[in-house]
Amino acid sequence: MQYDVIVIGSGPGGYVAAIRSAQLGMKTALIEKYSVLGGTCLNVGCIPSKALLDSSEHFFNASHSFAEHGIEIPAPKINMEQMIGRKAGVVKKMNDGITFLMKKNKITTYNGLGSFVDKNTIKVTKADGTSEDLTAKNVIIATGSKPTALPFIPVDKKRVITSTEALNLQEVPKHLIVIGAGVIGAELGSVYGRLGANVSFVEFADSMIPTMDKTMGKELQKSLKKELKAEFYFQHKVTNVVNNGDDVTVTATNSKDEQVTISGDYVLVCIGRRPFTEGLNLEGAGVAVDRGKVVVDEHTLQTNVPNIYAIGDVVRGAMLAHKAEEEGVFVAETIAGQKPHINYNLIPGVVYTWPEVASVGKTEEELKTAGIAYKAGSFPFKALGRATASMDTDGLVKVLADKATDEILGVHIIGARAADMIAEAVVAMEYRASAEDVARMSHAHPTYTEAMKEACLAATENRAIHA
Ligand code: FAD
Ligand code: NAD
Repeated sequence: MQYDVIVIGSGPGGYVAAIRSAQLGMKTALIEKYSVLGGTCLNVGCIPSKALLDSSEHFFNASHSFAEHGIEIPAPKINMEQMIGRKAGVVKKMNDGITFLMKKNKITTYNGLGSFVDKNTIKVTKADGTSEDLTAKNVIIATGSKPTALPFIPVDKKRVITSTEALNLQEVPKHLIVIGAGVIGAELGSVYGRLGANVSFVEFADSMIPTMDKTMGKELQKSLKKELKAEFYFQHKVTNVVNNGDDVTVTATNSKDEQVTISGDYVLVCIGRRPFTEGLNLEGAGVAVDRGKVVVDEHTLQTNVPNIYAIGDVVRGAMLAHKAEEEGVFVAETIAGQKPHINYNLIPGVVYTWPEVASVGKTEEELKTAGIAYKAGSFPFKALGRATASMDTDGLVKVLADKATDEILGVHIIGARAADMIAEAVVAMEYRASAEDVARMSHAHPTYTEAMKEACLAATENRAIHA
């Protein structure tokens, strides 16, 4: 065999699996069908979306809150070419970073489509049509996901677009219709809303980000309604999309069977993503798939073919970069004979809107459904000195703890810097802290993290000091 490990796909799952394999002394190759490394997350996902979220936030603040801070500037203007160009520069810097890491770890990279010939042989077909066969003792499938499509929504990538095109627009839409108010809808709807577009969210469920704790969706909607020119159509099922070039019309039906028609100049379709295995020729190795997902053993992430593993978006579970990374490390260590562990209950979820939303553990709805007796403690950001100083007063921390033992079961935060604050909750829960444990730890003043301490005090015996 040429390699100990071949990884197919260079996203956060794949390239991290390759680095950990190499660190453990295994001869490793990484195959990527595109000319750049980093996968969805780096090229058309996490990083470019955050670059545009940051740019649009600066524009929004310059337009709306600088004056109140006593900073007078002429009305700011948008230079879309520069904004998109800066985003591309950020992505390029990170692409180069991953290429450097591959060289540093002596990982051989191949640019081309990887497909199974048999369980130990992968054919790499390059852009010029030439191909070569590689052999390995172990193969890790990390081929990620693609946006879900609906047959009656004709995505032309110009006016009816997915997140990939939304990260590359050359103009600010006048009216952006967002189909699906999940994570992508909330983030990219925020980008263009902050830049001045009218935004209509059409969502099948009864709230935004419906898979998170219900309080989060409600609070986020309140904030976005204040901040943006936004309309919300919840419990609306899209039934038709007509694209007339410069003008697109979306028809949706609500729970009472009433029809609404919304017209805009761009429609963003973000109704979820599906695992991607096209071109892999899984049949060549006999790897089993269930509803598009590569089937894996819960304890080892092995497929039904023992030397072939699968990780990240292409398998079950949350479609998140850090979940893919944990699985990449897990599989490399498993192949090396170690016994690693992933606590899937403690994978945080973050939505990078403003205010940010971040969650870990169980939601209140999940605890109710499971019949677990719990206590809830909440603390609003508006009672924090730090939040008042910066005028970022929207939001709250909600801590859910076991009624009998006080162990923290879930933490849900909406507010400034929630994305960074959630790390404290992950650490506390990993060590099975009680709400009172966290409530008794000193939190620096004035910081946003005091809301976590106060929410834990509230959950303990309703002892919040500043509420
Ligand atoms: P991917 O990143 O999808 O990588 C798979 C790679 O495999 C791709 O490069 C693909 O070209 C390659 N490939 C596929 N088939 C083959 C083949 N046969 N041969 C060779 N190569 C192949 N997650 C977060 O945690 N935080 C965020 O802020 C966040 N923001 C996001 C924003 C957007 C707009 C989107 C779309 C997603 C976002 N995500 C975010 C989700 C995150 O991008 C994914 O969970 C993550 O990229 C999954 O990693 P992966 O390694 O499984 O697959
Ligand atoms: P999602 O699952 O978060 O949201 C899709 C939304 O579309 C849901 O609320 C769903 O109810 C709604 N929907 C489905 N069909 C519909 C229909 N016919 N009409 C109206 N609404 C409909 O999916 P997404 O926003 O497309 O994101 C895909 C994946 O990418 C997610 O799994 C997410 O984890 C990941 N992602 C993560 C981040 C982050 O971590 N910050 C950012 C972007 C994307």
